[in-house]
Amino acid sequence: MKFGALEAGGTKMVCAIGNENGEILERISIPTETPEKTLPAIAAFFQGKDIAALGIGCFGPLDVHKDSPTYGHITTTPKLAWRNCDIVGYLENELHVPVGFDTDVNGSMLGEATWGCAKGLDTAIYITIGTGVGVGVLAGGKLLHGMLHPEAGHILLIPHPDDHYKGKCPYHGTCLEGMAAGPAIEDRWGKKAYDLADNQQVWEFESYYIAQALVNYILTLSPQKIILGGGVMHQEQLMPMIREQVAKLLNGYVETPEMHDLENYIVLPSLDDNQGIMGAVKLAMEALEG
Ligand code: ADP
Ligand code: ZN
Repeated sequence: MKFGALEAGGTKMVCAIGNENGEILERISIPTETPEKTLPAIAAFFQGKDIAALGIGCFGPLDVHKDSPTYGHITTTPKLAWRNCDIVGYLENELHVPVGFDTDVNGSMLGEATWGCAKGLDTAIYITIGTGVGVGVLAGGKLLHGMLHPEAGHILLIPHPDDHYKGKCPYHGTCLEGMAAGPAIEDRWGKKAYDLADNQQVWEFESYYIAQALVNYILTLSPQKIILGGGVMHQEQLMPMIREQVAKLLNGYVETPEMHDLENYIVLPSLDDNQGIMGAVKLAMEALEG
């Protein structure tokens, strides 16, 4: 059986065809312009491909509550052209198949929980540190939505004593995203993040903020695994610094086997950067089951 998968991002839309084993058979990438231009191009890719359902992992915030009048809309996004866009309604109308819909990070979490390093776990989190910071949460074997869906990229932090940056989040200034997403690094230091690999202080601040966030997630959600993805995590020196800071900040308070094996507890994604699109395949499979 073939499933459509859409990873809807602020810069590009990845459209793919996958099967029930999570294998990706075909994919294209379309630049994210306006809904008027981009949505028909997405629909055109899926038309005639005989898909049984479509899954969408999307940048947010989103309305993921099926009983809401604005279910399937992108809501208060700073990408103004996409604000209040009914992406699910449009694609349902064009493709006439069931559509599954969740945040991009919940999609990646689902991909890892179905086919990757979080398989079989009850509770885990997937964090992306990229253009923004987002957190997907698996709790009790299900993706967590609650009131809206987690927006844990915007948690408030204690600034590093040597960091006087004002923060880049238009809503909160110095929240996690405002201090640690790629654009915040680039704004603070005036250089591309990948050109800052040798500047020790950049990664000291970065690991300090990410570790603070992880400690808060560990204490509130008790995840059995933490997966850290996104462009910024391509900096290989970061992961060991984050693990070290997490241990330091927790200070022995949480005493579990995982805390003695941080290399297998705080990890990079395991699906070769296909976790998002594979998660969208699984969202499609779940939409078909109803
Ligand atoms: P998106 O979040 O848009 O889906 P990415 O996860 O690739 O995309 O994140 C893009 C951000 O990650 C950019 O702000 C960029 O500065 C940063 N980034 C990408 N590659 C690297 C790298 N090798 N080292 C550090 N930062 C990077
Ligand atoms: Zn914020």
